[in-house]
Amino acid sequence: MRKHSKEFLQNLTPYQGYELLVEGNKRFVNNLQNDHDHLEMINETREGQYPFAVILSCMDSRTSAELIFDQGLGDLFSIRVAGNIVNDDILASLEYAVKYVGSKLLMVLGHTECGAIKSAKQGVADGHITGLLKRIQPSISKALLKDEQDHLFSDNVAYANVENSLEEILTRSAIVKEMFAKGEIGLVGGVYNIETGQVDFFKNLTKRKKEDKKMTTV
Ligand SMILES: [Zn+2]
Repeated sequence: MRKHSKEFLQNLTPYQGYELLVEGNKRFVNNLQNDHDHLEMINETREGQYPFAVILSCMDSRTSAELIFDQGLGDLFSIRVAGNIVNDDILASLEYAVKYVGSKLLMVLGHTECGAIKSAKQGVADGHITGLLKRIQPSISKALLKDEQDHLFSDNVAYANVENSLEEILTRSAIVKEMFAKGEIGLVGGVYNIETGQVDFFKNLTKRKKEDKKMTTV
């Protein structure tokens, strides 16, 4: 089925959306990216957008969601902020994506070697940076309680920080919570490894259903 159409988005299940990201990251890691014809994509998306996923990730220049999931124009809503933290405006953007545009998957993506996390650990305080780093502090405390072997990549704070953002989204957004409870959207947490390009999809709250056939797109 062709991407960038209302029909595509309406027929896609949350689990199929998750699989599109998993497969895209495999292509990226293996250097087998799809041939993205940008002019063709501009043409395809000129009438409207039907992004299948909304991804909250860090502003780090090495972690562009479109690149690491091998997606093109119109495929993803990309919300980026230092440390992939949550605030009211980000919640509003997530709610808009899932409720008003129809994105089927909501992902929070952290990464290894995150500068925001490092600064939070060092207790950096300066200008508006102080307030943002405060939001990361609870994840640092949580990660200290966990065994370092828990995860694929040895960066427990990055994992705890993604879990924290997912929890905050579910606690603070009635819209997301309700759509997730009804199975209308999926929720996924991942950590990107800046040394290998691999994403560890460590938290998948999206259940596979019988009708979830593998999606083939062109
Ligand atoms: Zn970062």
